[in-house]
Amino acid sequence: MSLVVMKFGGTSVEDPAAIGRTAAIVAGRIALGRQPVVVVSAMAKVTDQLLRAAAAASQGDRTGALAISSRLRARHRDTASVLVKNAAELASLIDFIDEKFDSLDEVLRGLAAILELTPRISDLIVSYGERTSSRIVASAFCELGINAAHVDSRDVIITDSQFQKAVPQPALIEKRATEKLLPLINQGQVPVMGGFIASNEAGITTTLGRGGSDFSGALLGGALTAESIEIWTDVDGIMTTDPRICPDALRVKTISFEEAAELAYFGAKVLHPATILPAVKKNIPVLVLNSRNPTCEGTRITSLAPPCKSPFKSIAVKKRLSIIDVVASRMLMTHGYLSEVFAIFDKYQCPVDMVSTSEVSISLTVDSNEKLSAISAELGQLADVKYEGRKALICMVGDDIRGKNGMAAQVFNAIRHINVRMISQGASEINMSFMIDEDDAEEAVRSLHAAFFQNPDPAIFDVEARKK
Ligand code: ADP
Ligand code: ASP
Ligand code: MG
Repeated sequence: MSLVVMKFGGTSVEDPAAIGRTAAIVAGRIALGRQPVVVVSAMAKVTDQLLRAAAAASQGDRTGALAISSRLRARHRDTASVLVKNAAELASLIDFIDEKFDSLDEVLRGLAAILELTPRISDLIVSYGERTSSRIVASAFCELGINAAHVDSRDVIITDSQFQKAVPQPALIEKRATEKLLPLINQGQVPVMGGFIASNEAGITTTLGRGGSDFSGALLGGALTAESIEIWTDVDGIMTTDPRICPDALRVKTISFEEAAELAYFGAKVLHPATILPAVKKNIPVLVLNSRNPTCEGTRITSLAPPCKSPFKSIAVKKRLSIIDVVASRMLMTHGYLSEVFAIFDKYQCPVDMVSTSEVSISLTVDSNEKLSAISAELGQLADVKYEGRKALICMVGDDIRGKNGMAAQVFNAIRHINVRMISQGASEINMSFMIDEDDAEEAVRSLHAAFFQNPDPAIFDVEARKK
């Protein structure tokens, strides 16, 4: 049996028309003799709105929070009513939606009384997005002739208890997938599950972090040793840069696991950074495909990058970063100093993206977050500290950059009109990164894209699209 895990993002289930297209894509795979396991995100923008409701409730705005929930309830009910014509099925689906939104309202009322939003409550609140979208999609599939079975992913994807960025437990997931999914698959059913949400061993709801439905898909692909994992989204695949910044971005036809992971980590939202890991472990190819243009062959992510004549495959940009400069005129090179600095970041569980050191200073970049002032205060006991927000990291990814002469000169020549704050190349042979002001990010990406993707290698990039 050729098993395929198909993950559909928020835009692929955003309304009845999108869900209809998604059903047609899944039916197409079944017609080809494949066995799908389907993972869906919350309907587009629902997670953001649930987080807004949570924030409102925790600030005491009970009415505002309940108003958001009520709009979401109506959107889900309306979508269900358009898709499901069978009266009994529609009644049970509407009951399900109402039950979920009733309990969400209860949580929001409680939160508005307690006024404290913990990561655990936040995970519970956002979980309603995927819990309802997956149930609606499962009913819609049945209506459209697919033998679908809704499965609560929290019974299958088991994580630790780090709410908002929980770490999956692959052995337990494999066990649960075998127990809960294989019997359905063996009966010819198509499991439909919500991505992003999971639970710890005690059954408490957790999530895998924003954009985490890709990760759910990959975890299931790994657990079931799928033949391939398909990530269905709203663009033709992994592109040479974010097409929202550069409309003439080209589709990358194939890319290695390593390159894709680097791009995802450094901000290419098209893939969640951890997605690749379960696939790499079992060498399962990942395809990124467009649910609005399903005949396009997308991007194939495989273990080895095929040879490419162009130096770079893609440019990623990550915003909302801060640079922290730690300046200590005498102490820097003394034994143990660097580890003291890093111990402080560790204490606040604050990952550092990039580091550069000189004789007297260390510069580090981190995601802008509310812990920065506390971190700076502690660092201030060791040295002089300055931090500056609104920075962006540009990351150029390509196979064997180090092996090619003059790359740095060409990159910095292309953006010579832009002030560069920090540079890093070396840790990985496949990326060259630097920090600039956030306001310069789009301009830098466009200049670099124009410089490096004029005549791209047709074996790797879809140059035909540009001619059309
Ligand atoms: P989904 O809801 O399907 O998971 P996302 O919004 O998470 O979709 O990711 C798709 C978006 O990622 C695209 O619409 C695009 O704007 C953005 N993106 C950023 N960088 C890239 C890139 N290099 N290639 C393709 N898309 C990218
Ligand atoms: N719905 C979640 C989010 O918006 C997860 C996902 O879509 O991947 O972050
Ligand atoms: Mg996504």
